[in-house]
Amino acid sequence: MKPEQIEAIEHFSKKGKDYGELWDRILESAFFIHGHLCGGMPLGFRAGLAALKKMGVERELNMSKLVFVETGTGHAAGCFADGVQLVTGCTYGKGLIERTEYGKWALNLVEQSTRRAVRVAVRTEVMQASYNTPFINMRRKGVAPTDVPLDITKGLVDGLLARPDEELFVVSDIFEYPLPAAAPSSFNLAVCAGCGEAVAENKLRLKDGKPMCIPCAGYEE
Ligand SMILES: [Zn+2]
Ligand SMILES: [Zn+2]
Repeated sequence: MKPEQIEAIEHFSKKGKDYGELWDRILESAFFIHGHLCGGMPLGFRAGLAALKKMGVERELNMSKLVFVETGTGHAAGCFADGVQLVTGCTYGKGLIERTEYGKWALNLVEQSTRRAVRVAVRTEVMQASYNTPFINMRRKGVAPTDVPLDITKGLVDGLLARPDEELFVVSDIFEYPLPAAAPSSFNLAVCAGCGEAVAENKLRLKDGKPMCIPCAGYEE
């Protein structure tokens, strides 16, 4: 990472202090984990923060909340999902975030035990303006995010971090999310009879009467 990019991240992260305790450190972590400076990640960060605020809940430390983020693959500003993930603590590894592939910049934050939920969507005019920035114009021409000049990125990110929620987002009322009952997590470990690798017990499949991992068994369901 270029020193000037590290410096810019430190500059943006100070803004996190405005959101409350520890948020400057979480914002800084989010920039470092995401890897480059762009508009999508901070926009997702702000959207997720607005969702936590509306629900009156803390950032997820364990497994009690879920996020359905409405972005998809293969379109610009998909980085939004990383911001949502990192700010809400509903991470990929914890199995708490799912992409709906709608190609929309919105998220649904759901409390699993009560199914209470909120949807936060980026305002249409904010997305229209985002798709018309010098940053996206350079990306369209194939310039990598880390190669976009810093003065372009800085203006974009500073603007997104400073604007009030009402200007950026439409926040729904609290509603009940139609959540299917989740299967319990497995805490048991098995060993595949084919490759000898460790595999979570609930992912074992039978092949010729032997317990095997999915690649060795050759089928998923
Ligand atoms: Zn990005
Ligand atoms: Zn195997």
